[in-house]
Amino acid sequence: MLSLNLHKIKTPHERFEQTYAPEQLGVSEGLTVAAPAALAFDIFKDNDQFRVVGDVKTTLELSCSRCLEPFELPIDQHFDLRYQPHARNSGEGEREIEEDDLTTAFYENDEIDLGQLMREQFYLALPMKPLCRDDCKGLCAVCGTNLNRGACLCSTRWEDPRFAALKSWKRKS
Ligand SMILES: [Zn+2]
Ligand SMILES: [Zn+2]
Repeated sequence: MLSLNLHKIKTPHERFEQTYAPEQLGVSEGLTVAAPAALAFDIFKDNDQFRVVGDVKTTLELSCSRCLEPFELPIDQHFDLRYQPHARNSGEGEREIEEDDLTTAFYENDEIDLGQLMREQFYLALPMKPLCRDDCKGLCAVCGTNLNRGACLCSTRWEDPRFAALKSWKRKS
């Protein structure tokens, strides 16, 4: 676990900068980190509450949603998070945490889990529909040729209308 020991934060404002190798990040399924991750933030201390404002930069490897080829996506994700001790949340039933407040996080044992922080930012940076390039031509619905690499013969052939309907149905699904 990549943790930040909060006992080391002694002044109201400190700067933190660290670069991590992809294998240190403990990334879970569906996400490949293809370059070292540079984490840099300012941390502001207010008694037992901490505000963490900064950026994480790296390169993710994704699969194109059209042609299915892997491609690299550089990301530079900005975050502004408030950390409070975990006990406060579970101990006071009266206190309401607004569910849509995504910027409030909790820490335990006087440590902030920086691995978790970075993984969450990577997921937030993921595009809904990853594309290797904006004009990716995708795969031929008939023969599966990657049309970015070259044309296949399917499109030059006479197209049976029933087949065209099937193709557009396939494309939608
Ligand atoms: Zn593509
Ligand atoms: Zn084809």
